[in-house]
Amino acid sequence: MLLEKKTELVKIDDPENHPCEIARAAEILQKGGLVAFPTETVYGLGANGLNPAATASIFAAKGRPQDNPLIVHIAVPSQMEALAREIPHSAWKLAERFWPGPLTMILKKRPVVPDVTSGGLDTVAIRLPSHPVARALIAKSGVPVAAPSANLSGSPSPTTAQHCVKDLTGRVDMILDGGRCGVGVESTVITLTGELPVVLRPGFVTPEELEEVLGKVLVDPAVTRQLEQGRQAASPGMKYKHYAPAARVVLLLGTTQQFCRYVNQKAQTEPGVFALGFGPEQQDLTVPFERLGETGEDQAARLFDCLRRLDERGAKTVYARCPEPKGVGLAVYNRLIRAAGFTLVELSAAGLA
Ligand code: AMP
Ligand code: MG
Repeated sequence: MLLEKKTELVKIDDPENHPCEIARAAEILQKGGLVAFPTETVYGLGANGLNPAATASIFAAKGRPQDNPLIVHIAVPSQMEALAREIPHSAWKLAERFWPGPLTMILKKRPVVPDVTSGGLDTVAIRLPSHPVARALIAKSGVPVAAPSANLSGSPSPTTAQHCVKDLTGRVDMILDGGRCGVGVESTVITLTGELPVVLRPGFVTPEELEEVLGKVLVDPAVTRQLEQGRQAASPGMKYKHYAPAARVVLLLGTTQQFCRYVNQKAQTEPGVFALGFGPEQQDLTVPFERLGETGEDQAARLFDCLRRLDERGAKTVYARCPEPKGVGLAVYNRLIRAAGFTLVELSAAGLA
């Protein structure tokens, strides 16, 4: 793709202080252009979700595979009815509990949603974000805003405007800088089109919280495991290597002590070894370190920034501590295991206990 757009970077602390900038960004969307904007999860790359040419340009700007559908962002829950049909009662219950917020629902789509937006599927992914800049932009544009993460496809998702600037300068019309994203990982995706609700992608809203509203909720096996060859992905995004820095990432399962011993030993023979841990590892390591934090929430908030920084610091191989796949930690595990191309070493099994 030619880098032909003049990309404008606009800082917006509080949208109420910047009505003119929000109006200009909304006008870009109405005219079929591309605007990167902050949400509470990660930055989104927005276009008018009902305009096939506009959403097609999202795929071109990101280098995103055509069969990976986009999430459509709305301003009020009732907008769901314009996009989806046969909306189950469960969708309204989830909307009441978790919207505005980091939950995406898959519903049967109406014909008004173009095939390019839905990746050729008969369903549509819908979310109502809580970030004030996102909400102001979507409301002002008056259209449903299709927006995947505002990064180049395959690279770590952007959690600051600077990440968007690095990936998308020349590819989008405007980047709204609303500061750092609080959640840090993409929304939880749940499908409501089958017999039972199924989590297709874990996020800040956990399966346990969803069960409080819905009763039994399944978690797609592809959340934690590599898809078997030939098996079709329920969520097309699951089949791609994702979220990966340029460095090789290896996930290590074990105690702090096992982790440090293994990494220090590797560093004696391998060049460019870095470590990504929870925090306490740092004092026993002989290699450069990035800290994720101890809780699932902290780890989610820092993950993508850490992965990008590891590249900037010149890491060749990143040995990462395996997060506990529980609560929000399940989302962190899901992203890291993909960044690692599903390479996980069990340290006790490696004979280093
Ligand atoms: P992103 O927009 O980059 O956060 O990715 C959106 C995620 O939602 C991807 O993993 C998609 O595969 C998934 N998704 C979007 N629409 C659908 C849909 N209709 N059915 C299943 N998964 C979807
Ligand atoms: Mg993405």
